[in-house]
Amino acid sequence: MMSMYELPILLLLRADLRLDDNPALAAAADDGRPVIPVYILDDDTRRPLGVAARWWLHGSLERLGATLAALGSPLILRRGATEAALAALVDETGATEVWWNHHPDIGHPSAPGIATRAFDGCVLWPPGDVVSGGGTPYKVFTPFWKTASGIDPGVTRAAPRGLRPPDAPVASDDLRSWALRPTRPDGADGLCAAWTPGEAAGQAALESFLATRLDRYGVDRDRADGSGSARLSPYLRFGELSPRRVWHAALCTGGDAAWSFLRQVAWRDFAFHQLARIPNMAEVPLRPTFEHFPWRDDGNDFAAWTRGHTGYPLVDAAMRQLWVEGWIPNRPRMVAGSFLVKHLLLPWQWGERWFWDCLVDACPANNPMGWQWVAGCGIDAAPYFRIFNPTAQAAKFDPGGTYVRRWAADAIHPIVGHRAARARALAAMKAMD
Ligand SMILES: Cc1cc2nc3c(=O)[nH]c(=O)nc-3n(C[C@H](O)[C@H](O)[C@H](O)COP(=O)(O)OP(=O)(O)OC[C@H]3O[C@@H](n4cnc5c(N)ncnc54)[C@H](O)[C@@H]3O)c2cc1C
Repeated sequence: MMSMYELPILLLLRADLRLDDNPALAAAADDGRPVIPVYILDDDTRRPLGVAARWWLHGSLERLGATLAALGSPLILRRGATEAALAALVDETGATEVWWNHHPDIGHPSAPGIATRAFDGCVLWPPGDVVSGGGTPYKVFTPFWKTASGIDPGVTRAAPRGLRPPDAPVASDDLRSWALRPTRPDGADGLCAAWTPGEAAGQAALESFLATRLDRYGVDRDRADGSGSARLSPYLRFGELSPRRVWHAALCTGGDAAWSFLRQVAWRDFAFHQLARIPNMAEVPLRPTFEHFPWRDDGNDFAAWTRGHTGYPLVDAAMRQLWVEGWIPNRPRMVAGSFLVKHLLLPWQWGERWFWDCLVDACPANNPMGWQWVAGCGIDAAPYFRIFNPTAQAAKFDPGGTYVRRWAADAIHPIVGHRAARARALAAMKAMD
């Protein structure tokens, strides 16, 4: 009989689909016992992944499976409720422990009779580590950043050189049987052309950004075509890149520009800190007065927005890029979001859900925080009365018109006039008070 010290460890991978700086994986490799890396597709959660994120997940798991197999222990795929899947694996393998990295949005699974061990690796600072002098979580980003930027997020761990496999093979689903990719023949062409999921591509994207664009990030990050920002959001979303690795790599590369970039990266942590306190942040406005906001209920206007048929070129370009590439740079993302809630007076939750389905970086914390920010009902949000003028925004952030020409060159009559929409939005805000 095997000694209990030889029984395998189940390593539950979730939003940390990487080998580099993966604390749970590194510790399991060092431990010396056999390690069974597992990914469980659990759709019975608060927010099953949307279409674009499922496409990304397929690519990410495919690559992670290959790298783990090369390390010595293949990735085991299971589908179903996490706890039941874990219980079955414990039964089949004799494992006595489950290890994972904490994730603020994913619970702490348990399985009867099994010990668990959790590590930190999904955010820079675990919720609870960045608190005000009074010990309470920050509700405004600037003081959060002031405190957080002085806390070293800790050392990174290199990818392990090898993993001890279990003595007997463990059954795994075939990734293709999960049908994570769209079934329409050309449904993912735009995604495939724009993105390569996986840890290696994430590291290459980080290196290329640091080498060629970091020094101008502070100036260029708002460019509508996204050519000035890092394009790292899906890699951070799925944990193919470690936020700690991003932090240290940026600081090694360069001074002030690095801090301006890391300040943005810290918004992601800020969002997770909020989500840890307010799990229903995607549904409920954080400012309670917004529960009485007189939203319209107009399916046609919503459809025009989703299709990029509003007649405002910057908004339409953003929405069409979203449909094709599953991503929008931050500036047009803000303008398109603001247009939905202010020009069309449609509920921000509708936009949040549409983005959830279409974004490859659809994030349970960043997406609701972004939407509550544009709607003016979130923590540290833009005030509702500040209404973006999409035409002026295009002139400022896409001055040569490159972005709009690429995505929305056709001329469509605006579905609503800017001045009238602005007046209507301000009146609606007054009605709420
Ligand atoms: C309505 C709305 C919805 C959004 N939904 C998401 C989402 O689902 N997932 C997502 O990752 N981001 C979301 N954002 C934030 C932001 O638009 C993206 O993180 C950014 O555009 C990603 O591009 P990048 O990697 O080139 O960013 P960079 O500017 O290069 O920043 C690097 C990283 O920092 C983080 N970051 C930067 N800006 C923000 C921000 N404002 N809030 C939170 N994190 C930030 C991201 O992880 C990003 O990858 C949303 C913003 C808005 C206004």
